[in-house]
Amino acid sequence: MIHRSPALAALAAALLLLGCATNPATGKRQLSLISESQEISLGRDADQQFVEQLGLYGDEELARYVSELGQRLAARSERPHLPWTFRVVDDPVINAFALPGGFIYVTRGILAHLQSEAELAGVLGHEIGHVTARHSVNQLSKAQLAQIGLVAGMVAAPELGQQLGSLAQTGLGLLFLKFGRDDESQADELGVRYMIRTGYPPIEMAGVFDMLDRTAAAGGSERLPNWLSTHPAPADRRQRILSRAAELPPDVNAAPRHEKEFLDHLEGLVFGPNPREGFFRESTFHHPDLAFRLDYPSGWTYRNLKQAVVAQSPEQDAVVVLELAAGEDPRAAADDFFRRYQEQGLESGGPWIRNASGLPTVSDEIRVVGQDGRTRLRGGVAFTAHGGRVFRLLGYAQPDRWPTYARTIARAAASFAPERDRRILSVEPQRLQLVRLDRPMSLEEFQRRYPSDVPLERLAILNRVEPDATLEAGRVVKRVAGDDPSR
Ligand SMILES: [Zn+2]
Repeated sequence: MIHRSPALAALAAALLLLGCATNPATGKRQLSLISESQEISLGRDADQQFVEQLGLYGDEELARYVSELGQRLAARSERPHLPWTFRVVDDPVINAFALPGGFIYVTRGILAHLQSEAELAGVLGHEIGHVTARHSVNQLSKAQLAQIGLVAGMVAAPELGQQLGSLAQTGLGLLFLKFGRDDESQADELGVRYMIRTGYPPIEMAGVFDMLDRTAAAGGSERLPNWLSTHPAPADRRQRILSRAAELPPDVNAAPRHEKEFLDHLEGLVFGPNPREGFFRESTFHHPDLAFRLDYPSGWTYRNLKQAVVAQSPEQDAVVVLELAAGEDPRAAADDFFRRYQEQGLESGGPWIRNASGLPTVSDEIRVVGQDGRTRLRGGVAFTAHGGRVFRLLGYAQPDRWPTYARTIARAAASFAPERDRRILSVEPQRLQLVRLDRPMSLEEFQRRYPSDVPLERLAILNRVEPDATLEAGRVVKRVAGDDPSR
């Protein structure tokens, strides 16, 4: 939360069928949907929008480091002439992804969980592989369809559960589209190729899969939105890398992994969700940067996404979505909303809440009526002005369920209020801190001497050791400094 989201619809128009060509990375004939120059301009347009939507992590030194490593790998690829661009996305989830034309992204979440430059080279090499083998051309066209579908389905789709599912993808999730297993294996294989050419030991990639596997096992699916769901099981990929590495001459795997250079760049890295962008404490949502709070119905499930905060009832039959609307005037934002969804059958059902904590508010009950004249959805929408912005709260349910939720959702809408709690307004994110050990110690002792506000098990994954490990003297150990404000 909270940026406004531009649609990718315009890009869809540019997709043309061009026929077959030989792929330089795979040597195979390939049905290519678009020419290389189209591929680059698609990637560049999408990149601009992603940068706007996702937000880049603001550490220029780190960005330069990642970019230089990426450039070295890409220069040894089969498509060195692409306008390769490597970016660090300000997102806590563990992920990396590629767009057509050579635009590659790693999240700060995956960086926090890596242990060496060689591992980062493996991750970037894999993504470069998706581009050189042109997997991501298909990926983008699916992304566009998903996004177009989402906008159209926003108000009209009757399946609320599904709708929440697709809303949940409006953030980063949208980008992690499913490559086939073959594409993934091929990208892994190409990643190994680029690691070897650049002088990094491919066996290091096994450590990345190990980390993914352990994070998943520790119930970190929130942190692995889709390296898990879209990629083959990390344990299998790890096994494949190990047997591939075993075929290589020993000196290839003995190449330096550059651990220290890498870890140095992680000092002070923001860790976990950034509470400045909003966090839940029980059912109250606080947003320090935008200085507001809102009481969601208790017992619901909440998600704080980049462009929206979404809440769903326990029975999954009602949804509340809070977003920023365009402009500064609630009346104009409301008119725009009704105009935009008129064709989908959106109608006003009369007055809804009076105001939100005394702030200027325009609100209406709503219904969505199908072409057969049947009411598909009922709900309420409120536009509230605060701090020079307009916030849109939209709550809805299936028509027969709306009476059950109407009061609860109206109460949530009316609870929108300026945040005045100083401690919340001044909250800071947690950050990684690197500690060099002057003597051996167990991870447990490390946790006592340099406490991290994460469980021992997570600290172990973060440092790629077992929870009962003893850490050797001289080792650089990651610690999470600062408190998690949601607890
Ligand atoms: Zn992949």
